[in-house]
Amino acid sequence: MTKKENRENAGAAGMTRREAIQMGAGTLLGAAGMLAGAGELASLATQGNVQATPPPATDARYPMPPTWNRELRQLAPNVYAYTQGGGPGISAAGVSNPGMIAGADYLMAIDAAQGPIPSKAFIAAAKQATGKDFGRLINTHHHGDHVNGNQFFTHAEILSHPYCRDECVKAAATTPKMWTATPGVAEGTEERKLVPPTVTFKDDLTYFIGGTEVQFKFAGPAHTWGDMMAYLPQYKILFAGDVAFFWVAPYANNSFITKWIEVCDKIAGWDVDVIVPGHGPIGGKKELAEMASYFRVLGVEARKRYDAKMPPGAAAAEIRLGRFDNWIGPERLIMDVVRWYEEWDSTLTPDYNAMAVREATIEYNQVKAGQKKMSEIIPLSRMEALADPC
Ligand SMILES: [Zn+2]
Repeated sequence: MTKKENRENAGAAGMTRREAIQMGAGTLLGAAGMLAGAGELASLATQGNVQATPPPATDARYPMPPTWNRELRQLAPNVYAYTQGGGPGISAAGVSNPGMIAGADYLMAIDAAQGPIPSKAFIAAAKQATGKDFGRLINTHHHGDHVNGNQFFTHAEILSHPYCRDECVKAAATTPKMWTATPGVAEGTEERKLVPPTVTFKDDLTYFIGGTEVQFKFAGPAHTWGDMMAYLPQYKILFAGDVAFFWVAPYANNSFITKWIEVCDKIAGWDVDVIVPGHGPIGGKKELAEMASYFRVLGVEARKRYDAKMPPGAAAAEIRLGRFDNWIGPERLIMDVVRWYEEWDSTLTPDYNAMAVREATIEYNQVKAGQKKMSEIIPLSRMEALADPC
């Protein structure tokens, strides 16, 4: 045992469950920070929209996520995806993938990205590829990493589901006037304004842009109560927004998981070859089915513990997901268990239950502290950073 390990074990030893409860998150956080560099991750996470990604679990029995690049990739004539870079050990769980369709006169964006740096980079890459400017923008849903960049699409009409607009209007009231300096997102010198959509539609809506048919399809409630996807039948491409997370643990704080799984099953029957996920590398139906399996496996494991009256945080601390344990953003398992419990308790609402997730995280940390698995403690600040969701 090294000196460092000795000190760490001494720190963990002697902390009873009751003490852990009384001391709360601060003490646990400190211990976890020493152990795993989690303090650094936590301070990154509190800066805003980038969620720090903890070192991924490396269970050699299961595949590791790939690494993917930040690039504007052409998928078909006039159709592009702007994938954000990511992969194991990269703080990429909270950065989203916008898309773009080029018409004769203007460009249509699918999502605005999460802040000045990625949004301006996306706009510049689109201009360079096509020589055109954005005239329309659709927000697939209200989460910050999809709408926070709206302000940079200065001459674009912005469309969304009414629920998405309502949530943006609410959030705009408390949005700070300046961007917070966040690596990869903002310098911190930019003025900030959350611009809500100005056009709403509830069901399906089709645009013909240049030669491209773009069918917007309402998918909610799934990831949120206002999810829109863009389906391009000519090219069998689906921009799924956050209905799809590939190799990144799905974020369910505003979700109706049962219905979300149903949407994935429905898409399996569509004529689709390529799916651009809200998070992760481009994939297809196979990857979407994998994400649905994440929820199914988690649902089975969580339900056993729900039936045994185990609280959600303690349940999350016990659950292993096998091939999904290496996915980026493993701490999302806690919020996803909370959300499953709310469904079974019939207390589910469209809103994020921040208090329940916080309580479950403390509970989860108490279990890990009791087992002296200090490196698995989740800093509360990281869970709270997830309240600015993706
Ligand atoms: Zn989202």
